[in-house]
Amino acid sequence: MTVLSLPPIRDALTEHGLLAKKSFGQHFLLDLNITRKIVRLAGISEGQTVIEVGPGPGGLTRALMEAGAKVIAVEMDPRFVPLLEALGTAAPGLLEIIRNDALKVQEADLAEGRGPTAIVANLPYNVGTALLLKWLTGPWQPVSMTLMFQKEVAERITAQVGDDAYGRLAVVVQATAEARIVMDLPARAFTPPPKVTSAVVHLVPFSQRPDPGLLSALEKTTQAAFGQRRKMLRSSLKTLGGTALCEAAGIDPDARAETVDIKGFLALARQVQSGSFSKA
Ligand code: SAM
Repeated sequence: MTVLSLPPIRDALTEHGLLAKKSFGQHFLLDLNITRKIVRLAGISEGQTVIEVGPGPGGLTRALMEAGAKVIAVEMDPRFVPLLEALGTAAPGLLEIIRNDALKVQEADLAEGRGPTAIVANLPYNVGTALLLKWLTGPWQPVSMTLMFQKEVAERITAQVGDDAYGRLAVVVQATAEARIVMDLPARAFTPPPKVTSAVVHLVPFSQRPDPGLLSALEKTTQAAFGQRRKMLRSSLKTLGGTALCEAAGIDPDARAETVDIKGFLALARQVQSGSFSKA
């Protein structure tokens, strides 16, 4: 038996009497044409290791396995394990199932010795941003990420300076990775349909990303600046050094957060990191 010859996922769900649980953010992709398209957009090559968070009944997992990926599937809901095990039996050696909370797993341990590892996931919306920040700013780095978000969150991730959605998330993400929306999906593509439209974001982390000290200064700076986004930086960044900090970074102290690009925020964060302006 191969993955291709398995019964449709909808039938497997019915057979096991499985209904989506709201508390786990479950909205399933049951159409293999959609999951195959996501895998194509992810650019996964045969033999590549992929961590998939929240495989659920396995629609995306199947498409990944069809493409020859070696999938490490991290799922919190144990009800899906029998369905996933059937997938693993159909294509021996291509699927490892980890029953755990993705917020708690150490990806470095999962991917050890596996070569460049990608992440592909139709994420539960309630933990999507937390997971993205863990993967972008934590100690382990994926080679790429192809992730489903609510469209509104996808727009905040990829926003450019001047866009309404430009804010902390855009700055922190784009200081560490190249990010773009590669696909929009209407609510009806999911079972059950969520209340919102969704979008797939493809991210490629920079090989040289800011060091942890600079990232932490960037988080502090963007929190202060966007926390009072209508105020001028000399005021919103007052506790971090105000006008002197802005001038040292080459940024107009009368500018507002929404007009400062990623480079500008990195320049401000470098000054914050230097400690020269702290009031302590
Ligand atoms: N990948 C499947 C699909 O596309 O049909 C399911 C996607 S559904 C939006 C999210 C999945 O993530 C569910 O299977 C849910 O049980 C799982 N999940 C929710 N929170 C999780 C967590 N913290 N760690 C791991 N899995 C989680």
